[in-house]
Amino acid sequence: MTSQGLVDTHAHLMDPAFDADHDEVLARARNAGVARLVLVGYDLSSSRAAVHLARQIGWARAAVGIHPNLAAEASGADFRAIAELADAPEVVGIGETGLDYYRDNTPPERQREAFNWHMQLAEQLELPAIVHNRQADEDVSSIVAEHTAGGVLHCFSSDDPRYLERMLELGYFVSFAGTLTFKNATALRSMAARVPLERLLVETDCPYLAPSPRRGQRNEPAFVRHTAACLAEILGVSFDAIVERTWTNSLERFPSLRDVPRERVA
Ligand SMILES: [Zn+2]
Repeated sequence: MTSQGLVDTHAHLMDPAFDADHDEVLARARNAGVARLVLVGYDLSSSRAAVHLARQIGWARAAVGIHPNLAAEASGADFRAIAELADAPEVVGIGETGLDYYRDNTPPERQREAFNWHMQLAEQLELPAIVHNRQADEDVSSIVAEHTAGGVLHCFSSDDPRYLERMLELGYFVSFAGTLTFKNATALRSMAARVPLERLLVETDCPYLAPSPRRGQRNEPAFVRHTAACLAEILGVSFDAIVERTWTNSLERFPSLRDVPRERVA
């Protein structure tokens, strides 16, 4: 099926920020050339909502998991329910998971435990992990290295080329969000220039971090265009080349994004 377009590989459309104008947001995404969405859960209820929404939307898929900042609040039953939910046919990834040493809502040791748990689940189900990393390069790369699950580094933010190198060697894809377009993001843009074309992805992480020139507004999937345009500029290729490349990469990383029922694409 050829309905190639942009893929927002990380959207939180389940967030209450979208309660009022959900349908308009989806229509604007389609008009902006967004062909697929990956709706990413951050706790049990948002993961359930992601699966439910993916089913409704048809051209969206879901990822289920518990965000490192929320891991301390989650119960054993929540983790078991995530594992059950992960069997749903709409689920294309496990997460978001990872480590966040910038915020301390969850003690680092508990975060590492939860991250390992998600990596094992991803391994078992042969799904990619969707990895959040904030100021935890060292521990993220060593935990990832202990598992065979592949994955995506979502909203890439590190400025350490050695970390990037290591994660590329481990087979990871690198997803850039609106932060790439920020005026002061020179270091991040130079990191993007180091990622091989066949490993690049784009995302919004909406409703957060709207790209320039929408910075400060509520973010939404249509704005992934601005990040793709910025990436094209950094790499010195056309916008269309980025659309084509990130589409191919998204399907490679999330193969079942391809299988969207024909009648539900439009
Ligand atoms: Zn996120």
